Amino acid sequence: MEQKYRSLHIKLTPQRLAILSFLDGNKTHPSAEEIYRAVTKKFPTMSFATVYNTLEALKNKGTVQELKIDNDKRRYDPDISSHHHIICTNCKNILDVHKDFSIDLSEDLKQGFELSGNSIEFYGLCHKCRKHH
Ligand code: ZN
Ligand code: MN
Repeated sequence: MEQKYRSLHIKLTPQRLAILSFLDGNKTHPSAEEIYRAVTKKFPTMSFATVYNTLEALKNKGTVQELKIDNDKRRYDPDISSHHHIICTNCKNILDVHKDFSIDLSEDLKQGFELSGNSIEFYGLCHKCRKHH
């Protein structure tokens, strides 16, 4: 674990490693609060500020991406590959959508931009929430 993150060039305290290992392979797109709740089980004295600052550092290093698809809170994704998301408007569960939509904008719509990517947000009711409606 530690080896894997040495290249980040951030100080790897046990607290930060706990955050990294919680995020590693995590597909739930947790919020900072959820990450805080999970890591304080092991490190009860860890502050929310430590969690938040670590997430900011990881974001700046490009190791996690911040999602703004949930209006209520920022969510974090350790999968930095190009992909899209679908969110349940009821329970706020976020799932990955791995598909290259290859949307091409005409020069007119590009408005002088050289495009580097896109991110599409889908929303609706998830499988579980549909059952209870
Ligand atoms: Zn749902
Ligand atoms: Mn994702």
